[in-house]
Amino acid sequence: MPSSAAVSRAKGENACVACGSTVEPTEEYGLDIAGREVTFVATRCPSCANEYVNAPEILRPDKELMEAYRPSASALGSFRRVLTLTSRDREFRHRVGDKVAGTLLWYLLEEDMADVVFLAHLSVTEEPVMAFKKKDLFEAWQIRMGAGRAITTGGGLRANLATLTQLKTFVETDRGLHPRIAVMGRPCQVYTMRKLLWERFASGYELAFALGTFCYGNFAPAGWGGKKLTELLGFDPSEIRQVRFLGDEMEFVSGRGVTRKVPQGNIAGLVNANCLQCYDFSVKFSDISVGHIGGEELFEAAVVRTELGDQVLEQAINDGFLAPAAQLYGKADAEDDEKRSLAFLNAMVDVKKGLTQKVR
Ligand code: SF4
Repeated sequence: MPSSAAVSRAKGENACVACGSTVEPTEEYGLDIAGREVTFVATRCPSCANEYVNAPEILRPDKELMEAYRPSASALGSFRRVLTLTSRDREFRHRVGDKVAGTLLWYLLEEDMADVVFLAHLSVTEEPVMAFKKKDLFEAWQIRMGAGRAITTGGGLRANLATLTQLKTFVETDRGLHPRIAVMGRPCQVYTMRKLLWERFASGYELAFALGTFCYGNFAPAGWGGKKLTELLGFDPSEIRQVRFLGDEMEFVSGRGVTRKVPQGNIAGLVNANCLQCYDFSVKFSDISVGHIGGEELFEAAVVRTELGDQVLEQAINDGFLAPAAQLYGKADAEDDEKRSLAFLNAMVDVKKGLTQKVR
């Protein structure tokens, strides 16, 4: 049974983000996060039957986030502009893989806009992966697959508990040395960092910037799904470092550089259980989301969402760290480019729905 304190707290703080009615608590339980028991409260809306989970002592209510970031504004969420970019930095350009995210994060460190970068998408254990210098960011474009730990907070959103644990682990060892944290991560990880009440969970630290990486799903299913995926790929899913959509196929690249193309229909539903029915592809709560789209090798797409994202990107371009296609090809081509990118990204939202839908 829920305690009366939790019940009144939930009633006071939670309005259904789908219809606005007051949700009712249905269950309360404790979960261990980095050695601390945190109380989670499950609620249900009596009007529209949506169900939510939140941890009011450390996570803000979704209503606040929805009003600030308006994720339902379009299939890609709310954004100011979409552009295609490339890195101007010689060291990033000479390396394999995507370059824009690493360059932008390095710019934040270089210009003293952040003290450290938390690469949330690079860890599937309790150990955080942190970047303090440029060289730590050369592989920021890669992703890692592995068992996840998440709760469904409603409306297809996931709070990633592993990300919270990793952050806490860092904060406890760092002891205030690097208080401004830029985070790079998948949609569930960036959403969790936005939702976090930093002053309560990581006192003295703040979220300085949120950079999203497009996500088709965490392909690390347990049991039968894992075996099936290993057969399809020819390598263990934990070795996946990049996933891309090309035509009707998904392209998987392993840490050893092995590339496998698999028809989309063959891998639908072969994702970690946390990802089933997660529909955020473009990281709707980020300042900027970046990633390769389609077979384009030279440029990467950036979805700019917030004023901070806009300012930082403009500065990084003016200071010669990044170059938009507009600078290289002229305005008309850049407009076509933006339209193409938008069409592709919108199509990807549907592809992701197909890949992560619940298999019944
Ligand atoms: S599909 Fe959703 S829950 Fe799964 S890793 Fe991506 S953002 Fe997280």
